[in-house]
Amino acid sequence: MNTYRLQEEAIPVDREMDVVIVGGGATGIAAAIAASRNGARTLLIEQRGFLGGMGTVALVPAFCPFTDHVKPVIRGIGLELLERMKRNCNEEYHELYNDLLDWVPIDAEVLKRVYDDAVLESGAELLYHTFVGQICMDPAGSRIDGVVIVNKTGRSFVKCSYLIDATGDADIAAMAGVPFHKGGEQGELQPGTMCYLLTNVDRNRFKKYLKESGDTGQIPIAVQKAQASGDLPEGRKEVSGFAWVSDYLVGINFGHIFNIDGTKAEDLTRGAIEGRRKVKEQLRFLQKYVPGFEKAHLISTGEQIGIRETRRIVGDYVLTQQDFLEMRTFPDDIARNAYFIDIHMATSKDKMAIHHLPHGRSHGVPYRCLLPLGIDNLWVAGRAASSDRVVQGSLRVMPNCFAMGQAAGTAAYLAGLNGLTSREVIIDELQRLLIEQEAWLGEETHERLAVR
Ligand SMILES: Cc1cc2nc3c(=O)[nH]c(=O)nc-3n(C[C@H](O)[C@H](O)[C@H](O)COP(=O)(O)OP(=O)(O)OC[C@H]3O[C@@H](n4cnc5c(N)ncnc54)[C@H](O)[C@@H]3O)c2cc1C
Repeated sequence: MNTYRLQEEAIPVDREMDVVIVGGGATGIAAAIAASRNGARTLLIEQRGFLGGMGTVALVPAFCPFTDHVKPVIRGIGLELLERMKRNCNEEYHELYNDLLDWVPIDAEVLKRVYDDAVLESGAELLYHTFVGQICMDPAGSRIDGVVIVNKTGRSFVKCSYLIDATGDADIAAMAGVPFHKGGEQGELQPGTMCYLLTNVDRNRFKKYLKESGDTGQIPIAVQKAQASGDLPEGRKEVSGFAWVSDYLVGINFGHIFNIDGTKAEDLTRGAIEGRRKVKEQLRFLQKYVPGFEKAHLISTGEQIGIRETRRIVGDYVLTQQDFLEMRTFPDDIARNAYFIDIHMATSKDKMAIHHLPHGRSHGVPYRCLLPLGIDNLWVAGRAASSDRVVQGSLRVMPNCFAMGQAAGTAAYLAGLNGLTSREVIIDELQRLLIEQEAWLGEETHERLAVR
């Protein structure tokens, strides 16, 4: 590779923090709130001008289930934020979704404000429009001393005792030399999707169409008819999801863009351009084939194509498909996952891989999955946590990211309080504090710790 040698330079120290969190998606938001509420001096750094990650940046239109069909399994900060978004939506939204915990539609503009407020109220500092492109290791190579940030103010250094990588792509861990996997054995990755918002749609007319045509909510009949007549390309035979924010406003997750590696700027660029082209094609299809969408108007596409999969770090434990299928409990559980395995195909010829757990059941997510090999003051939570590819296809959704984020933030606080490394955090103490702060870690853990 052609290289250019930079000159050594001294850069200002912007600030010194106990805990720095990079990435303001579901994971980073929960991590910041948890660390700061407990008392750590916390900074959350986000490259965009708002929080929410895929749920706002990429307009992913709904939250995956918070329940196992019987009870909520994702509680704590995640559930609190979900309820707060609902309360801040308009009355119509409120009436529609007040009691819903699964597949709750996202009102992205409300959610952005809710996240701002919740993070600031926790006492955490927020730095938007700021990218972390470099880290500084201590000479021994097992700790990160801080991060180099780049923004309109310039380049500066943020010193910290502990760091949480909530970039979704394990950017920080990769810079620190942590081993990781990306996609499948042949490097195949789940596809990206450009999600979007349509207004001037008529939900009642759409419902009438479903009733009269026998088509289901994901409109496979309409999609396949359009594919047969060449109005849509071959590929997924139904829409992944419609999320009705109101009777006239709908968020849509439809179709795939293949061979996008979300850690490469060139691929993200191609994804953005191809994505917007696809949305234009889909809008024409919906207007022509689906009653209720005749006058649909596109208000917004995602600022970035939605990315389902990039790096998975190798942590102290790698959660496996077997753990998922056997619904295992671990002594160091910090969350439970009940979401199904939901692996989108890597090419238009492949099939989706789906596997549901029985209602009322879940598996544990051990603390060790957040601990990247070789580094003692870093947690990697969210989409890039340590699991095999199959489990990543389930663990990656936003409610789980909230739960893992809360655990990472709480652990970082405890580590700081007691002057420990991430691996020295006392598990019982972490679990007790998480439960005290409304997280749910499964019946066995609650019973073992004698808390309800
Ligand atoms: C098309 C699609 C549909 C989906 N459908 C659903 C669904 O219906 N429901 C659901 O719950 N989940 C869904 N998911 C999954 C879910 O949205 C993501 O897996 C989840 O948001 C990951 O959360 P995260 O916090 O780990 O990462 P992200 O949401 O990706 O957030 C990471 C944040 O870090 C920031 N960042 C990254 N690198 C840097 C850096 N170096 N410096 C500064 N900032 C940085 C990014 O800007 C971003 O805001 C879907 C995903 C996709 C792509």
